[in-house]
Amino acid sequence: MAPMTSEFDIIRDYFVRVPLRAETRLGVGDDAALLQVPAGQELAMTVDTLVAGRHFAQDAAAADIGWKVLAVSLSDLAAMGAGPVGFTLALTLPEPDRDWLQNFSNGLFELAEQFEVDLVGGDTTRGPLSVTVTAYGLVPEGQAMCRSGARPGDKICVTGTLGDAALALDLGARASAVLSARLHRPLPRIQAGQALRGLAHAAIDLSDGLAGDLRHILRASQVGADVELARLPQSRDFQKMRGEVTRLFPGDHILQYQLAGGDDYELCVCLPPESVGAAQQLVGDNLTVIGTITGGSGVRWLDASETPVKLALGGYDHFSRPNG
Ligand code: ADP
Ligand code: MG
Repeated sequence: MAPMTSEFDIIRDYFVRVPLRAETRLGVGDDAALLQVPAGQELAMTVDTLVAGRHFAQDAAAADIGWKVLAVSLSDLAAMGAGPVGFTLALTLPEPDRDWLQNFSNGLFELAEQFEVDLVGGDTTRGPLSVTVTAYGLVPEGQAMCRSGARPGDKICVTGTLGDAALALDLGARASAVLSARLHRPLPRIQAGQALRGLAHAAIDLSDGLAGDLRHILRASQVGADVELARLPQSRDFQKMRGEVTRLFPGDHILQYQLAGGDDYELCVCLPPESVGAAQQLVGDNLTVIGTITGGSGVRWLDASETPVKLALGGYDHFSRPNG
């Protein structure tokens, strides 16, 4: 960036850490970082930007922003079945606020340490608050899980539970700590992604809501899907709030949260039926079958009596709404 008085102080004070990984040959401080890619491995890369006022409130806790911007990128690596190694950080700040930077850095490195990933470089500029993380990881050659491999007969499974973050967003201060954490501190399903690699035909991470994200798999694989609405997994806290939600907000919000609310950061995978048992053993009871891949196109949503129902839903798409 153009010299902002304390750009280098900021980097030194908040973003330089001793590298944790052998693959990191050179981290922050030079013109580029150097990374070793071991023989037989491929590099998986992904980038995500969070913009103030769009992805988080202007006054959101800086530690949560730091956590989440890394979490959403690691979630993409999880969906590929990659093991995360490191990331770069592009930070645009209206002003160098030391309290904000300290908290942001704390949240960021709390997650980075948990998954042993190195911050190896970045860029620091002045402007409206926005944060971008490019994360990279390793996957054995030819073994990454793609969106394009689903086949008719595959079971559609999701990790964890759906709708918690969207519900937490609507509830605001009324949300329980568990629901709030699902919104502000999502945990990327790294272990599940790596465990499912080699078993799953296709995978995607759920960032925009199952309805939209599943369609990406269907298009890439040229298949259809039957999904049973009654099987969509709900957390205990989600179930507890169902009555409250119906009282507070008219309309069918439950399905909206679970299918189109977004911010779940769970994995949706397509598994051949004979691999479902093994996958559930590897991932724990945290993998729920919600439907089946078909030879058709698009999603048929089935009610408890397996009758197709019409739903007016869509995933979150920044450019499909007037307010994009
Ligand atoms: P250059 O002008 O070569 O791009 P910069 O002055 O932008 O270098 O950055 C100096 C060093 O600090 C580089 O190694 C860069 O990767 C790193 N860096 C800059 N901003 C950040 C940040 N927000 N987090 C981590 N590393 C950063
Ligand atoms: Mg630079």
